[in-house]
Amino acid sequence: MLEKREFYIDGAWVSPKAARDFQVVNPSTEEVCAVISLGGQADTDAAVTAANRAFTSWGHSSKAERLEALETLLSVYTARQDEMGAAISMEMGAPIDMAISSQADPGVISSTIAALTALEFDQMLSADDPDDRLLYEPVGVAGLITPWNWPNNQVLLKVAPAIAAGCTMVLKPSEYAPLSAIIFAELIHEAGLPAGVFNLVNGDGPGVGSQMSAHPDLDMISFTGSTRAGILISKSAADTIKRVGLELGGKGANIIFDDADPKAAARGVFKCFNNTGQSCNAPTRMMVQRGRYDDAVQQAAEAADKMQVDLASKPGRHIGPVVSNIQYEKIQALIQTGIDEGARLVAGGTGRPEGHNRGYFIRPTVFADVTPEMTIAKQEIFGPVLSILPFETEEQAVQMANDTVYGLTNYVQTNDRAQARRVTRQLRSGMVEINYNGRGAGAPFGGYGQSGNGREGGAWGIHEFLEVKSVSGWSDD
Ligand code: NAD
Repeated sequence: MLEKREFYIDGAWVSPKAARDFQVVNPSTEEVCAVISLGGQADTDAAVTAANRAFTSWGHSSKAERLEALETLLSVYTARQDEMGAAISMEMGAPIDMAISSQADPGVISSTIAALTALEFDQMLSADDPDDRLLYEPVGVAGLITPWNWPNNQVLLKVAPAIAAGCTMVLKPSEYAPLSAIIFAELIHEAGLPAGVFNLVNGDGPGVGSQMSAHPDLDMISFTGSTRAGILISKSAADTIKRVGLELGGKGANIIFDDADPKAAARGVFKCFNNTGQSCNAPTRMMVQRGRYDDAVQQAAEAADKMQVDLASKPGRHIGPVVSNIQYEKIQALIQTGIDEGARLVAGGTGRPEGHNRGYFIRPTVFADVTPEMTIAKQEIFGPVLSILPFETEEQAVQMANDTVYGLTNYVQTNDRAQARRVTRQLRSGMVEINYNGRGAGAPFGGYGQSGNGREGGAWGIHEFLEVKSVSGWSDD
């Protein structure tokens, strides 16, 4: 069992001020794989103080220094990518091959380097007003709070742009997936980032998380996680008028029109069940036009039945367990609710998949004949559970897709390009993927409505951490 009780504060590994152990459980085996500490106010304060001290110099670092820091980080990171993937796989259950290639992918660092290279920190307001200047400056000291589902990716999406902007920071990763963040702190140290620029304090939401959102000496909170916690953080941050960037939950629609790719439904199942359905942008509501409906239901059921569920430590293209017993129980209850509310179960169901009597494994589950008012059509389930809903017309599809408090990613499948663009413009979401075309590196990631107000990735990700200072009378000569 790993013992990882220390925090990374001011460039050194330090013990918590008061001992409070927390056990990290391997979701494939239900065995404790590591012990960490949950910090308290004194640890949070020490990290915030270190970050404030470091801001006095890092806040004025040059673009060249920030680029060099990110490039060094990328090279030390790449050398330990396999180790990063293995830690993620153990702590949250992503199958090892996928954990190394996808979860631990350092692409966010590369795309941040590209965006920083192109960013002009001093700009003229316009050619007609050369003495009116816009100076883009770091917002200050940032608190970063991240979830367990793409644990390292979420950390990179905050730390890389914060470094690029000239911010200093305190990271509190999810207590369920802290091991990858501890390796990440080692990489930061190895990369030689000045002491105090990056600090890591482990803890839970009511403890370190809440202490950060209320902290008078943090200028900003960048949060990724549930809408529930996003609301609490926003309220607590309001007293100090912090900037709050939120990346929250989703309930993505995947609209399959009659003329879509014949395999669109099966592909939608794989997309939905990737990472065991634990992605905020998963297409969990498959909406199928009537002419394709019966075929789509059959395709989806077959795809789910074929999907292998196995230990995260095994190589291969199966899906792993969900992260924790809490999530396991929640998903089981939602599957039962789907049955009780009258949806037609066509694959999977409650209980563990055959061959597994321990581990938080869920049967890949598909419901057909789901109606918009059912719980499984509304609530984010965060497991391998797909809801299929029929529709007749384009207008109805758009109305149903937008009938959600969320607005993160929607998907459109059609061979009619004009229809794809027309529907896309009407969808109330931060992202739309047409015909399963993946998003480009550095494209802005974020949502409308209760999916949050932030945009991460590329230039947009850096701007989240910048203030703009408007100066008149600059005069270059
Ligand atoms: P969570 O909200 O329970 O926890 C996320 C983080 O917030 C953890 O570090 C947790 O300790 C902390 N936290 C919890 N309560 C807090 C509070 N009151 N104050 C401060 N911090 C608090 O979410 P989770 O279960 O870890 O992650 C799953 C959720 O994250 C899903 O809803 C998913 O959709 C969402 N998510 C969104 C995105 C996105 O970019 N939009 C990406 C990944 C995950």
